[in-house]
Amino acid sequence: MIDESPPAVIHHAFNWHKNVWSVKTAPKINLFLWRLVQGALPLGANLQARGLTANTNCPHCNAPETALHLILHCPYAQQVWELAPFKSTTALLNSDSIQHALNLAPTLVCLPPKGITTELFSWLCWNLWTARNRLIFENGGTSHAAVVTNALVNVREWNQAQKIPSPPRPTPTTAPLYHAPLPPDISFCNSDASWSRQSLQAGLGWILDNETLPHALFGSSCCNHVTSPFLAEALAIRECLRAAQTAQITKAWMRSDSQLLIKAINSKTYPMELFGVLMDIELLSSTFAFILFTFIPRAQNSGADSLAKSALCNSPSALLN
Ligand SMILES: [Zn+2]
Repeated sequence: MIDESPPAVIHHAFNWHKNVWSVKTAPKINLFLWRLVQGALPLGANLQARGLTANTNCPHCNAPETALHLILHCPYAQQVWELAPFKSTTALLNSDSIQHALNLAPTLVCLPPKGITTELFSWLCWNLWTARNRLIFENGGTSHAAVVTNALVNVREWNQAQKIPSPPRPTPTTAPLYHAPLPPDISFCNSDASWSRQSLQAGLGWILDNETLPHALFGSSCCNHVTSPFLAEALAIRECLRAAQTAQITKAWMRSDSQLLIKAINSKTYPMELFGVLMDIELLSSTFAFILFTFIPRAQNSGADSLAKSALCNSPSALLN
C-alpha cells in the first residue's frame, strides 16, 4: 500500500532552475512541471483543499488524487512507467515527493531508440496529465501504450522543431520571474529577428504556444529598409504581438533575446529610431489582459531564431543574389 502524501510541500533545497525551468522541453511543459510541484494543478486533493467536495478522486482507480499519485503512484501510471523505454524506474517509482522524482529524472537511462533522452520524462508526465483529463472531460480512455507512444512522438517532434543545435544554456538573467505568479492559461510568445547589413532586410520569426494548443503556432516574414538589428528585433516583437492578438491570446509572456529591447519596453524609454514601433508595441500590449516582457538567452530561442533566419534567406532579393 502506497502512502498518499498531501499536496506538494515545497522543500527549500529544491532547485527550480535545474529541475523545472532548465529541463530541455517545450515551455508549456516547463510551466506544467512548475504547477505540478507548486500543487497548482486542479487535482482532486488540491480542489478539496480549496473546499470543493464533489468527487475528486483519481478517475483511474478512485484513490485520493495528488500530484504524486497522478504521476507515479496510480496503478495506471505505474504500468505506463513499466512500458517506458527506461533502463530502470524502480528508484523513480519509490519517490516520496514530486520534488524527489524531478531530482531523479536526469538520472534515468533511456534504452534505444537512439536520439531519445531523458527529456522523455517530462513528456510522459504531461501525457499522464492529458490522459487523465481526457478520461474526466471526454470520457475517453487512453491505453498505457498510447501514453508512451504519444510521449515518444512529442519528444521527436519537439527535437525536430529545434533544428539548430543549441549551445549549452547559460543561466537566464530573469531569475526573479521564477516565483512570480503567472496566470494559469498564459501563452509563451517567442520572437526573434535576423538582419542583413548588406540588403537592410530583416527576417522575423515568432512562435506561440500554450497548454490548450495541440501544436505551437508559428510564422515568419521578411521586411525591407530595416536600418538596424535593434529595429529588426522590435519589428519581430510587434509581429509576434499581432499574431497573438489574431490567435485570440489574452495572456502573453513575450520573450526575446534582445536584452536592450526588453529593457527599453519595460522602462518605456524609447530611442528615437524605434519610437514608432515601440509605441505600436505599447498600444498592442494594452489590449492584453496580462502581458509580461522578458529576456531569454539566445540558446532558449532557437525555434524563433531559425524561423527568422529562413525568412531572411528566402526573401525574393536574397534569392536573386
Ligand atoms: Zn489512480
